[in-house]
Amino acid sequence: AHQAALAARSKENLRSPICCILGHVDTGKTKLLDKIRQTNVQEGEAGGITQQIGATYFPGEAIKQKTAVVNQDGKFELKVPGLLIIDTPGHESFSNLRSRGSSLCNIAILVVDIMHGLEPQTLESMKLLRDRKTPFIVALNKIDRLYGWKKVDNNGFQESLALQNRGVQNEFKNRLEQTKLAFSEQGFNAELFYENKSMARYVSLVPTSAHTGEGIPDMLKLIVQLTQERMVGSLMYLSEVQATVLEVKAIEGFGMTIDVILSNGILREGDRIVVCGVEGAITTNIRALLTPAIMKELRVKSQYVHNKEVKAAMGVKISAPGLEGAIAGSRLLVVGPDDDEEDLEEEVEADLNKLFSRVSTSGRGVSVQASTLGSLEALLDFLKDCKIPVANVGIGPVFKRDVMQCGTMLEKNPDYAVMLCFDVKVDKEAQAYAEENGIKIFTADIIYHLFDSFTKHMEEQLEKKKEESKLLAVFPCVLNTVAVFNKTNPIVVGVDVVDGNLRVGTPIAAVKQNPTTGVREVISLGRVSSIERDHKQIPICKKGQPSVAVKIEMGGHQPTYGRQLEETDMLYSLISRASIDCLKEFYRKDVSNDEWSLIIKLKPLFDIN
Ligand code: GDP
Repeated sequence: AHQAALAARSKENLRSPICCILGHVDTGKTKLLDKIRQTNVQEGEAGGITQQIGATYFPGEAIKQKTAVVNQDGKFELKVPGLLIIDTPGHESFSNLRSRGSSLCNIAILVVDIMHGLEPQTLESMKLLRDRKTPFIVALNKIDRLYGWKKVDNNGFQESLALQNRGVQNEFKNRLEQTKLAFSEQGFNAELFYENKSMARYVSLVPTSAHTGEGIPDMLKLIVQLTQERMVGSLMYLSEVQATVLEVKAIEGFGMTIDVILSNGILREGDRIVVCGVEGAITTNIRALLTPAIMKELRVKSQYVHNKEVKAAMGVKISAPGLEGAIAGSRLLVVGPDDDEEDLEEEVEADLNKLFSRVSTSGRGVSVQASTLGSLEALLDFLKDCKIPVANVGIGPVFKRDVMQCGTMLEKNPDYAVMLCFDVKVDKEAQAYAEENGIKIFTADIIYHLFDSFTKHMEEQLEKKKEESKLLAVFPCVLNTVAVFNKTNPIVVGVDVVDGNLRVGTPIAAVKQNPTTGVREVISLGRVSSIERDHKQIPICKKGQPSVAVKIEMGGHQPTYGRQLEETDMLYSLISRASIDCLKEFYRKDVSNDEWSLIIKLKPLFDIN
């Protein structure tokens, strides 16, 4: 009896786990959420599912009803009081549900489109889940799209699969195997949920359809099972407040408000709270704790209900003075009677400062701007993995001063005069300034799109540099003059290419040694403007090919045959340190081994080390 009492008491003390839905765009995250929220009319009111701020609460009763179809033997026992599912699916919410580097999201559903397999954002989500050590299950959604699928609304998956014909079952099996393989390539072992013997070692795959509702009872049951199995210990109710800001929104009649997920403790009207803002910590008093009014209460004055206090886990809107500039993803702390307000302020600011300090020590890198702490952190992590250095970090909309700061890179390293902006608006003036000054602003709602934009930008920069360096790139050649047709302006000579290749555009020089002083002198002749053989223009003459007539022109004062030059002078392409570096950087593939050897031979002639 004592044991039972203890168990009962600890059950009392369990709080509801918080669940997030993640996955690639269009996999059906929103639709799945809608479907599980939907109350089945035949079942009557599904035990008080309540709409909160930013989340939906499923009390134990509702979960029992929704999982009844896959719990006919009654063996599945519910140990958690309920489940809080975050309403805005995706990265954003997940990464903002954070506190001191750990996630307040206890459990996640990763949605994968069974027809598409793993997509870029699926991989991003998997990385986030792995980094934050969040247990998750996979909803293999859209099973109704398997060709020939016969549906039974809201059925358990196993029963539905058994009803399908052989062809459908086979297609399902194939896609399942492909998915398992793709997961193992990412370092996750995955198993179909009813074949999974260890939820600690294998990720459970649960096939679902957000359209027919099939598999959804299994999914809910699994989520609860996974929480109960993996984390009952960490779901103890604590009196200490643990909360994070999910959204910052202006609401008519309330001014700026913050939507908060309270994962532990109690919040009360009048509490003194500290959150992180763009200009530093914000300390204020809760004016109102708001939750949505129930739909049935028509003609209510406000769409919100005021609460004296709210208890975790709970989504709530807080109205308080001075919340302008609050940052989503920030922790919310309550100032207790023994707390030093300044300590708490420093603590919330530290979250932001930690991210701001993650810039490259060289001071060279791109500028990064994100809407929330969570997304900024995710973006910085991503760029780190891609080895893209970051020099400046900002939160919130992009203003001119941000662009100007990024512009300092134009001098240091123009490749990095780039702003990567995740889910933020760009001010008009800022945009105009960027365009005028050649600073690129890339915006995206998906992190890897920023990577794609940046990669493309770097390729364009390389192409541009290659184009600009065309005049600088000098391929090596050695020429023997066989005739002088025109002594100067322009010089026209007949030559044999004795080594390397002669190309139009190549700068030519003779190297003479002063007979009395012994000093070597390089005489520049100008650039080859045409190469002709048998009165036909050719772009290149290779070593050993028949003689060609070459026209060499010069902008300035060209030397003259018979004075500074003689027919017996050997001619060379005029190479330099810069021309060699240019070949190495942009034309490595175009330079043959013989040409590299010739360059090495020519270097001493032009005093290049
Ligand atoms: P999200 O971007 O992941 O939130 O995806 P949505 O929930 O907006 O769904 C994207 C599209 O896929 C919509 O057109 C949905 O109707 C469709 N969809 C979602 N789930 C299913 C499903 O289970 N079966 C089918 N056939 N279509 C689905």
